[in-house]
Amino acid sequence: MPSRLESLLTACLSAAFPFRCPVCGKPPFDGSPGMFCAECLESLPFIVPPYCPGCGGPMDGILEVCPKCLHQPPRPWSRAFSLFHMEGNARLAVMMLKYRNRPEFARALGRLLGGKLKRELPCPVDMIVPVPLHWTRFVQRGFNQADLICQGISAELGVPVVRALRRCKRTRQQARLSRKERILNLMGAFSPTDSTKCEKRAILIVDDVLTTGTTLASAASALLDAGASRVFAVSAARR
Ligand SMILES: [Zn+2]
Ligand SMILES: [Zn+2]
Repeated sequence: MPSRLESLLTACLSAAFPFRCPVCGKPPFDGSPGMFCAECLESLPFIVPPYCPGCGGPMDGILEVCPKCLHQPPRPWSRAFSLFHMEGNARLAVMMLKYRNRPEFARALGRLLGGKLKRELPCPVDMIVPVPLHWTRFVQRGFNQADLICQGISAELGVPVVRALRRCKRTRQQARLSRKERILNLMGAFSPTDSTKCEKRAILIVDDVLTTGTTLASAASALLDAGASRVFAVSAARR
């Protein structure tokens, strides 16, 4: 964790040079606005193949999914994609984005995710859908981090972001609940904003972090119920 002085300096630097690396303020590795610098990029804990189709995390052993996914109900999506392990500078980026009002981190995460999806998606997709926040949480935070990540992916893939879901239930924080409570907590939490939008579409459903996958699964199921032909789950980090 950077010291308070360092964070203050970084904040000043990124205010003065908004297109510099969001972690340290150095020039981006590829010159593209808001991207990480070469050093920070190198320090990021990328997940390396082979990937688990259930969560996008690392796969070891001979089973069809990773040990973490074995303990979860079958996933509604065709495949999941995740960029990082939730540690080091990836954890810092997600936390800064979500809790420290530093939305510029979303651009770098979204662009990196978009690049990965460009290489690894098995078929073209029609739209990118963010996991929505309940409006009360949106008002508290002022932005939806998943929506901002979608903008970065969209810039890379040239596919539109469609806010096709609404969160109709103010759910409790998933992290503190048991598996059964998680599923109950999210039951009926999402509904389509306009069901015709999803019909026969291949869709990316996007969130910042995948922990157990219950939130993404609930959102993906709402899209499939609304007629989506195929859903892929996308997260910046796998916890
Ligand atoms: Zn940097
Ligand atoms: Zn898995």
